[in-house]
Amino acid sequence: MRSQHRDVVYGPVSSWRLGRSLGVDPICQERKVCSFDCIYCSLGATEEKTVERRVFVPARQVARALKDALGKVEADVVTFSGTGEPTLAQNLGELIEVARETSGLPVAVLTNSSLKIRKDVREDLAKADIVKGKLDASNEELFLAVNRPHAEISFEGVVSGLKKFRAEFRGKFQLEVMFVPENMAFSQEIAKVVRSINPDEVQINTPLRPSQVRPLTSQELEIVQRSFSGMNLRSVYRSEKPLVEKSIGEHKIRRLKRSD
Ligand code: SF4
Repeated sequence: MRSQHRDVVYGPVSSWRLGRSLGVDPICQERKVCSFDCIYCSLGATEEKTVERRVFVPARQVARALKDALGKVEADVVTFSGTGEPTLAQNLGELIEVARETSGLPVAVLTNSSLKIRKDVREDLAKADIVKGKLDASNEELFLAVNRPHAEISFEGVVSGLKKFRAEFRGKFQLEVMFVPENMAFSQEIAKVVRSINPDEVQINTPLRPSQVRPLTSQELEIVQRSFSGMNLRSVYRSEKPLVEKSIGEHKIRRLKRSD
């Protein structure tokens, strides 16, 4: 196996939102490839900031790795995430189909929402059972400060893409808001935008993994959460995590420094 494709499949990790989540990394590069460079990213700085989709990992390799993994570990869901933005994988739709066929499990995709404005990306994501998007800002200035996007991505474009996707998607649509000191004062404004998107579930998060910025305390997050009252909420400090007895791909899990 080529070294840059190490640990295409990893986990399962114990996820507060998905259960025992077997990860698939459709990017799988040593460099982080993403359309954002979020100030809180646990992977460090974005080494390749791009909006160009390309094939990073062939479908047959994902099928082989998943089959092998499921002979060794048990999982509740297959989750596309990893070392960058999953929707940058041009073959994402094919990979989702292969993952479902090979595993027989529901398939989730964790995306930063930046490319949902594109029809080809929405069509790929529509093949998943669960899609978790992200929205950490309420205006362009805050978006630039927190997510440091590629020059071709605008706040309005992200919100418009999220609304289009919401209207089309038949699966479960979750929206995460990552709160850090930089955006906590904007919780009311962010909640207003989230309300206008109307996801099935809102996930209130703060970076508990190693990060350049400090996470909010549970008391601070409780205050922020009040802005979202009436919505179907899940919060990182309040959620239980399932027990994972055995996992694979320890190198990738260590690199991601996370349990999702
Ligand atoms: S979108 Fe995700 S992977 Fe990309 S920089 Fe932000 S936190 Fe990191």
